[in-house]
Amino acid sequence: MKLKIALQKSGRLYDDSTSILKECGIELQNGMNKLLNEAINFPLQILFLRDDDIPQYVEDAVADVGIVGENVVFETHKDIEIIDKLGFGKCRLSIAVPRNENYANVSFLQNKKIATSYPYLLQKFLDENKITAEIHEISGSVEITTGVGLADAICDLVSSGSTLFSNGLKETEVILNSEAVLIENKNISDEKKIVLEKLLFRIEAVKKSKKYKYILLNVPNENLETVCKIIPGMKSPTVLPLGIEGWCSLHSVVHEDDFWNVIESLKENGAEGILIAPIEKMIL
Ligand code: ATP
Ligand code: ZN
Repeated sequence: MKLKIALQKSGRLYDDSTSILKECGIELQNGMNKLLNEAINFPLQILFLRDDDIPQYVEDAVADVGIVGENVVFETHKDIEIIDKLGFGKCRLSIAVPRNENYANVSFLQNKKIATSYPYLLQKFLDENKITAEIHEISGSVEITTGVGLADAICDLVSSGSTLFSNGLKETEVILNSEAVLIENKNISDEKKIVLEKLLFRIEAVKKSKKYKYILLNVPNENLETVCKIIPGMKSPTVLPLGIEGWCSLHSVVHEDDFWNVIESLKENGAEGILIAPIEKMIL
């Protein structure tokens, strides 16, 4: 039984969505129809769609699972399940106003016109803050609306903020932090569930491997115990004797968040010849 996955057909999520499948060892067929593809070594069909349509297709079971931004999931609020965060496509849905405005707090928005492609999430935010405002729903180029006098503020996706900046806007509220997620139809068959579990297992291994680095170093025997405590690894570091008396080589993994702190304390404890290598897959 083949699992059907919906991916964005082009746009910001396309590259990362297709490369996560590749990193999971799933190869697509060449030269197939651009909208429908099939893996050659995994029971998976791939549907390429507009990202906004993915939650609906997953709710309707046209696709069993899909990869889409949380912003789209929450805006469309379909009856589907989020099963995994994927760590890419990070952005936030924010309110922005012209840079010269004096924005003290949300009450600035009272009775203002706000342009957005996210009317549902914006209305929810306004309701929660007891603000009445006029929402102008538009499908693109939201950031130019204040400049041309169509709106007083915008509610749009931001990542670096450079688009806002170049349009003379400043970000004043974050409504939602978003990243790409894997969504699932609520009634998928047990057979498909088994395929999905296999896919999730691989995705987890790929995600974990990205967070860790493989580390090798040499350390004098008298510091071995301390250094083992600094890089305990998955179970314990591998310790191998070196060709010279009084030294050993240690292999372990280190989380990227601790990386630089760990390196410093390793050096303080006499570690030398530190090598760091990427990990391709990690299975605990
Ligand atoms: P489609 O034609 O599929 O509807 P789109 O124009 O709606 O494409 P993209 O701009 O490709 O969509 O963005 C897809 C998703 O990428 C967004 O919904 C969001 O989750 C994520 N994303 C990450 N960073 C940004 C950003 N700076 N601006 C917009 N989207 C971003
Ligand atoms: Zn879209």
